[in-house]
Amino acid sequence: MSILCYHGIALDDEDQWLGHLFISRARFERRLELLRQFGANVLPLGEAVERLHRGSLPPRSVTITFDDGFVDSYVHALPLLGKFGFPSTLYLTTHYCRHRLPVFNLIVNYVLWKSGKSTIELRKFGLPGVASIRNYGERQAVVTSLLRYSEARGMGSAAKDEIVRSIAEDCGVDYNRILRARLLQLMTPDEVGAAARSGMDMELHTHRHRTPRDRELFTKEIRDNAACIREFTGREPVHFCYPSGDYDPRFFGWLKESGVRTATTCEPGLAAAGTEPYRLPRMLDDSVATEVDFERWLSGFRI
Ligand SMILES: [Zn+2]
Repeated sequence: MSILCYHGIALDDEDQWLGHLFISRARFERRLELLRQFGANVLPLGEAVERLHRGSLPPRSVTITFDDGFVDSYVHALPLLGKFGFPSTLYLTTHYCRHRLPVFNLIVNYVLWKSGKSTIELRKFGLPGVASIRNYGERQAVVTSLLRYSEARGMGSAAKDEIVRSIAEDCGVDYNRILRARLLQLMTPDEVGAAARSGMDMELHTHRHRTPRDRELFTKEIRDNAACIREFTGREPVHFCYPSGDYDPRFFGWLKESGVRTATTCEPGLAAAGTEPYRLPRMLDDSVATEVDFERWLSGFRI
């Protein structure tokens, strides 16, 4: 069984910025067409994993999953999935659902990319000297420094957003336009509820998109995440996806005691009846994978 993994369907030019996380709407629609042509049996995740372990899956079984819960999952993915009649699962991280702000570490990187500059000077935010921002990794080093700066000062989401606004203004990037377009923002609680009623199951991805190695902190992430999902959808989430694919075997027991039945990773592969339920592999589809790659995944050739 193939469990497909998507992050975002670009609202603007996010696929050109970060092609391994975002794909264009047209490309996503084409993937759904390929699934139909292939005769894929697109199943809800819960049904698929249950039948996987019972050995009763139909041939060409596929499950479609999304990570995080960006606005575009609601704006682009949901209507397209509805058009094809495909169910899906969204692993929702809930902290930013209550904030009408973009996710800090992503928006900083995006704004730096959007500036078109090769270097930046951010002494006022604690960065020494001039930093190179020519590629994703260099920009991410700036993000890491800014995260350290904001954490040392105990800044909340609103204060961190002021940093982003300041950087955007200094770089000549129109931040108000980015906010209006809702780039890199998560769905609102109302949108989450509406999506859940339209066949997009909401499952766990931690409240703050992190996996602490401390049992109490880890299980609190699950509890906070589950409480929000219950509140937004009226349903109990029981499946989990490791944020950033970061997992540790000691999590398996902590997930089990939290009532979680399965967990997916970002490791490529096909799920089989004997696969460890807390380490289900997925196929990460992105702007780089070709249609040939995609068809090979569906046929089970590329593992
Ligand atoms: Zn994630």
